[in-house]
Amino acid sequence: MQQLQNSLPEYAWIGFALPDGTVKAATNGMLEGVSVAQRPWFIDGLKGPAVKDVHDAKLLAEMLGPQANGEPFRFVDVAVPVKNAAGETIGVLGAHMSWTWADVVRTTVLATVEASLSTDIWVLSSNGAALLGPLYGTMPFNAETVSAFQAAGRLSFHDTAGNADHLAAAVATKGYLDYPGLGWTVVTRRPLGLAMAPANQLAAAIMLIGLVFAATGAAAASMLAKKLTNPLAELADSIDRIGRDAGATMISRDHSSRDVSLLSVSIRSLLRRLGTAETAHETAQREALLSKQMLAEKTIRMGEDMHALQVLADTDPLTGLLNRRAFRVFGSDAMNYFRRHKRDVGVLVIDIDFFKRVNDTFGHSVGDDVIRTVGETVLAEARNIDKVARFGGEEFVVLMRETEKEGPEILADRIRKKIASALVEHPEHGAIHVTVSIGGAMAVVGDRDIEDVIQRADRALYEAKASGRNCVVVSGSLAHAGRLAA
Ligand code: GH3
Ligand code: MG
Ligand code: MG
Repeated sequence: MQQLQNSLPEYAWIGFALPDGTVKAATNGMLEGVSVAQRPWFIDGLKGPAVKDVHDAKLLAEMLGPQANGEPFRFVDVAVPVKNAAGETIGVLGAHMSWTWADVVRTTVLATVEASLSTDIWVLSSNGAALLGPLYGTMPFNAETVSAFQAAGRLSFHDTAGNADHLAAAVATKGYLDYPGLGWTVVTRRPLGLAMAPANQLAAAIMLIGLVFAATGAAAASMLAKKLTNPLAELADSIDRIGRDAGATMISRDHSSRDVSLLSVSIRSLLRRLGTAETAHETAQREALLSKQMLAEKTIRMGEDMHALQVLADTDPLTGLLNRRAFRVFGSDAMNYFRRHKRDVGVLVIDIDFFKRVNDTFGHSVGDDVIRTVGETVLAEARNIDKVARFGGEEFVVLMRETEKEGPEILADRIRKKIASALVEHPEHGAIHVTVSIGGAMAVVGDRDIEDVIQRADRALYEAKASGRNCVVVSGSLAHAGRLAA
């Protein structure tokens, strides 16, 4: 036992006690003959191998005296029963292990950690007492705090003084094989600020790097955006100029980025198509306008032609007076008025006397001149609203509208006198003298059309011829009645 203690100085005492508790032999002879029957290590050691938690030295305290550091000796007791060949317990082998070894272990472990981090280690017994720490028997927290901390799986807890949080770890020790162990808990902790310093530094570094990247990214994004938006803005600008600036019909080709280039190509193509469509539209519009103008001109020309034709169709070529066809139109219109509104209508039939002689004497051409002059005279004497026509040969008809009963007779007489008094001047043959006979008639109820009136006037003309020519007979007039009576 002495040799064992020499090689393992942590064993402050090794001894053998008899079953009655009397120490039979011990290192340095200490406690020999003394009874350890009441010591827990002996009581448990009789039953089987036992380890007793650390405790202050009791019986050996006086013999060993204080340690070098002034602390009293503390022991962990180890005991095993000693049996004979028959298996009977013949005593207990006990050993007191000085607790200093545990502090050596603690100090050794802490020495591996940077001192500035203020790391510390405690060992708690199964009943929550502080077995090991910087100061024996004390700890800056209590067992409940530690067990709550362990249960919650947190990383830090406040100490009992309410000091700043500590990053901490608490681990329950295990036994060995079927030995359950002493149920210690090892607690180690470090002030949170110090513990987190590297992490905080790292976080700061990460943040800084992040900021640098963010700033660089923003600058790059801005550059990229500019690279993209500048050509887009230029594109928008040149599109905007189209149709405003003179001659701006196309945008320039863009080479900045693939997308913008594609866009510019598409817009250029669109503008070209638009230009083509516009040109086609303008051409169509011009052509439509042209054909419209041509159509209008054609219509006007046709109208003019039609009018000319109408005039031609209505006009007597020799005198320019109305012909028989045109006269009939006016005549039937006048007859309608007569029937509907009782507007009087009169007709004069004028025939040149002995015209055959004119022709015979001066020739047909002079005859024509005479016919023309007589026509002019009749037209001049007639009122504006009257219509004068040449019915062929040397015969004229006057249609009188809005006339009174005496109207035909008055006008006929005026014409007759005018022609009779006038001489048709001829450059070759000198003055030629002609007279006319005139028959007149008023429309009466029962006349079917203007022809009936003309027929009555013609009969009156016949009477005028018969009564010596160069005279007027108006059908139905007083003079006519007298003549008929005679
Ligand atoms: P009356 O007094 O009975 O009317 O005698 P008249 O000679 O006039 O007889 P009538 O009416 O029968 O003769 C008309 C002549 O007028 C016949 C014809 O040769 C002539 N005449 C008809 N048309 C034209 C014409 O356009 N130009 C000329 N110069 N003569 C015409
Ligand atoms: Mg005649
Ligand atoms: Mg005649």
